[in-house]
Amino acid sequence: MSKKKITVAKGDGIGPEIMDATLSIIMAAGAQIEIEEIEVGEKVYLSGNTAGIAKESWDVIRRNKVFLKAPITTPQGGGYKSLNVTTRKFLGLYANVRPCMSLSPFVKTKHPDMDLVIIRENEEDLYAGIEHQQTDEVVQCLKLISRPGCEKIVRYAFEYAKQYGRKKVTCFTKDNIMKQTDGLFHQVFDEIAKEYPEIENEHWIIDIGAAKMSDTPEAFDVIVMPNLYGDVLSDIAAQIAGSVGLAGSSNIGEECAMFEAIHGSAPRRAGQNMANPSGLLQGAIMMLNHIGQPEVAEKVQNAWLKTIEEGIHTYDLYKEGTSTKLVGTKEFAEAVIANLGGKPNQLKPVSYKVGDSIKLPKYVRRQPAKKDLKGADLFVHWGGTNPDELAAMLKPIESGDVKLTMITNRGIKVWPEGFEETFCTDHWRCRFKNKNGENISKQDIIRLLGEADNKNIDVVKTENLYQFDGKDAYSLGQGQ
Ligand code: NAD
Repeated sequence: MSKKKITVAKGDGIGPEIMDATLSIIMAAGAQIEIEEIEVGEKVYLSGNTAGIAKESWDVIRRNKVFLKAPITTPQGGGYKSLNVTTRKFLGLYANVRPCMSLSPFVKTKHPDMDLVIIRENEEDLYAGIEHQQTDEVVQCLKLISRPGCEKIVRYAFEYAKQYGRKKVTCFTKDNIMKQTDGLFHQVFDEIAKEYPEIENEHWIIDIGAAKMSDTPEAFDVIVMPNLYGDVLSDIAAQIAGSVGLAGSSNIGEECAMFEAIHGSAPRRAGQNMANPSGLLQGAIMMLNHIGQPEVAEKVQNAWLKTIEEGIHTYDLYKEGTSTKLVGTKEFAEAVIANLGGKPNQLKPVSYKVGDSIKLPKYVRRQPAKKDLKGADLFVHWGGTNPDELAAMLKPIESGDVKLTMITNRGIKVWPEGFEETFCTDHWRCRFKNKNGENISKQDIIRLLGEADNKNIDVVKTENLYQFDGKDAYSLGQGQ
């Protein structure tokens, strides 16, 4: 087998120790890899590079396409960009895969039968990081969800289930509230689920789904969800499986992939030969499967399970009664190496048959829909409290048949016929539409904005209201 060149970054804090341990194990197991090391993280940040990575290092990562990364320390204070978020977005790593499996009774958990995989969308949602303040009292963050983004992550989840013999894919969203954004994610899930009739599928509203997952995680198999929910729930899932210190994750893109532990650089434990290398090792096992070396991945995972089962534990897992030997990072790695070729007795041994990375078909853009401009929301910064007064100010800017139809404040309708009890901020959404339901033009919006400016009305942004193929594609006011 020819050797696969991979990029390795040893990171900060406990990073170098757990990376050395991880590499020693996979090399001993026969991984056919050649390592190209780069420096990222604290040293690079503190040298004045706010991205934490040099341009030449990007070249190495892009050339090798596979990146095994130890945790890094993001220095405190403003100005430093999270290298993790940057890497995921720059390299288009759209899928974050986090298996969370209990190792009971060898690692204490309330959920001995838990064995689930969280597949988190990794590029979109509120993590686009597009935020604004346009009035004194209100700040906003734009939640972006795209059809290609949804199709890729949902298809990845079903392909993952197929490849790893998983029986069910569950989708978590909050589409009862966010009918457009989470609604699209759910809709795409339903569409793609039909292509995989052999795999069970279901959808849960995220709040009750999260409660169920925390209480009865064994009810789930693969769970796919938008970015923010996945970020939160994957840490919870890892923690209730036993420890965040045991979980690894992969970040998969069309071209490149990055593998890591889910925990951070634990600076307090650095340099003491104490840290548990298991999380990073789990990341490395996913990497071996990804680069088509499943037999090595299988050998390492079974040896690791056997070691955990023998009670050879680092300090974070060590418990009187279940553990037999307290070891350091290096000794743990040596114990796993000694167990290579062996299998666990009580924990279920793994068998990885297909190690190839999951290749999705290229996204095919659909025919554009028929798009009609039906109105505009003008967002107004206004310090008053009585919406009737604001409506009276706005009436004079109406032009022709384009009329003020509604005012909302933080999404709730306050005019016409609002409630006095509704608390209002200085950020008002004022909806203008053609009174006969006909389309409006961009010129109508320009006229509205011009008139508002003439009358010193502070319009801070506008949102166009469209129909796509005759279907309204904007939210109603709550209470409308
Ligand atoms: P952390 O995960 O580094 O550590 C929290 C605690 O968990 C540690 O004090 C330690 O007691 C324990 N722990 C974590 N990993 C362990 C291991 N392998 N073995 C044994 N015990 C372990 O979280 P933190 O303290 O909030 O963050 C420290 C630094 O790590 C910060 O600079 C943060 O930005 C960074 N971080 C990096 C990544 C990454 O690179 N992927 C992820 C999270 C945090």
